[in-house]
Amino acid sequence: MSSVPVAVVTGSNKGIGLAIVRALCKQFPGDVYLTSRDPARGQAAVAELQQEGLQPLFHQLDIDDLQSIRALRDFLKDKYGGLNVLVNNAGIAFKVNDTAPFAVQAEVTMKTNFFGTRNVCTELLPIMKPYGRVVNVSSMVSCKALERCSQQLQQKFRSDTITEDELVQLMNKFVEDAKKNIHEKEGWPNTAYGVSKIGVTVLSRIHARLLNEQRKGEHILLNACCPGWVRTDMAGPKATKSPEEGAETPVYLALLPSNVDAPHGQYVSEKTVHPW
Ligand code: NAP
Repeated sequence: MSSVPVAVVTGSNKGIGLAIVRALCKQFPGDVYLTSRDPARGQAAVAELQQEGLQPLFHQLDIDDLQSIRALRDFLKDKYGGLNVLVNNAGIAFKVNDTAPFAVQAEVTMKTNFFGTRNVCTELLPIMKPYGRVVNVSSMVSCKALERCSQQLQQKFRSDTITEDELVQLMNKFVEDAKKNIHEKEGWPNTAYGVSKIGVTVLSRIHARLLNEQRKGEHILLNACCPGWVRTDMAGPKATKSPEEGAETPVYLALLPSNVDAPHGQYVSEKTVHPW
């Protein structure tokens, strides 16, 4: 078994994820795994970084597919005995002008952004090594969507005692309410992406709390973050940041030194903790 530290970035064949892998290849003292749901797209991205003199490794990972997640977990356990850095970056967003019904957008977006990310956490958090770093790429849109939730929902999402089961129920309720076209009446904002990212931010707060309660001595730090508005296929060419600039905050959180115990359980933007 290898004693080399290991980092994994989900959805890293392009965009911010690829830029995170590029930065980690330069700064992380260990093996860095570029992952992609599509092996061909992943290998093409690896070849691009190799052209730059970098040496990322590759593993397939589709966060919508539990078998794929478990295959990566088993590989990491066998080869490295665990994981040092996990960046949950993979995500999707429907374009503003997409004509798919809102109910479909709600279900599909929630499936990947919240449930896929959660499944990765369920399988990989147990194998995080001491002093591990977990970064969940959420969005400032989660904060804006939170402000547009009913007071009752806001209270639940800001609660310091909300459980993972309760959060899962709420995310499922949003999808069901969207299917019945009663989501606005039920206090939800009219944004599937925004609600899915509320899920990612709140999940991060819950998982950080559980680490405090159950694995305090392991010094693992887990945070949610926003990369900013970044020029990628998702956000388009008018966005203000390059992918490399968008990678800065996630990489900062992924490389928090072993002698710090904060930030942890926070929502971080521009390397700064913001109130939730
Ligand atoms: P992007 O260029 O569209 O890249 C998204 C990446 O996620 C792609 O590699 C995509 O793979 C992958 N992905 C999607 N579904 C997946 C799945 N089921 N399993 C594995 N990988 C999957 O978007 P981006 O702008 O870099 O976004 C990266 C993250 O930043 C997302 O979580 C996004 O919500 C967040 N974010 C972006 C911005 C922004 O301004 N761009 C702002 C705030 C937050 P394929 O190539 O196979 O589709």
